[in-house]
Amino acid sequence: MDADHLSQRLATVADYIPQGSRLADIGTDHAYLPVNLLKRGIITGGVAGEVVRGPFENAQREIAREGFSDQLTARLANGLRAIEPTDQIDTVAIAGMGGALITQILTQDFDRLAGVRRLVLQPNVGAMQVRQFLMTHGFQLQAEQILSEDGHIYEVLVADRSDHPQTYTEEQLRFGPYLLAAPNAAFVTKWRHEAQRTREVLQQVQAAKTVPTEKVAALQAELAQIEEVLERVSA
Ligand code: SAM
Repeated sequence: MDADHLSQRLATVADYIPQGSRLADIGTDHAYLPVNLLKRGIITGGVAGEVVRGPFENAQREIAREGFSDQLTARLANGLRAIEPTDQIDTVAIAGMGGALITQILTQDFDRLAGVRRLVLQPNVGAMQVRQFLMTHGFQLQAEQILSEDGHIYEVLVADRSDHPQTYTEEQLRFGPYLLAAPNAAFVTKWRHEAQRTREVLQQVQAAKTVPTEKVAALQAELAQIEEVLERVSA
């Protein structure tokens, strides 16, 4: 992968970055996403944020090599602290991390999202937590994608600022309202795998000397919900 050849996962993230926007790509690594978007004239500029020095230096090198140092600034910073008001960022992308870390990054410096109208988030796992965050922090889901690449399944969540985000049920938060409405093969594969994993955890928990009844009940309820959804979408 490079800035001219994004993975299908990052290309899907790129698809939801609005034309003419100013992007902060948090956890940018090589800065392939923002450089690709600049090369194609989709973003006008922005920030490539990284918390680890090695990837930060990769980003700096890539930006300089492609001649975008005037439009795109690499910053060594934790999460949203890479964004300054003068950057005029309106779109934030966070890709390739777990949902818990994405949620932590968004929560811990929430005020830095003041001018941001769109979030494009790609949790590797834990999408439910990200949907919960969006619903409770003034962002309305606009689109969701689920895709399979190199043996992994990825979700991409797109949300825009809203005064009244829709309230979702637990089922919608777990599976994704848009994904539930149009389930594809990756969706079915993911949830078959999750059902199997939940069965295994349930067996282990039930085999414990002191069986934690609340945990068993929660796992049973989760498994029943997954099986019901799988049955519904396969019907
Ligand atoms: N976003 C790229 C992608 O999707 O291909 C790179 C994903 S890479 C697996 C995750 C990157 O996020 C790493 O380079 C890591 O250093 C960075 N990262 C992790 N926590 C971070 C944080 N709190 N703030 C900024 N970057 C972070």
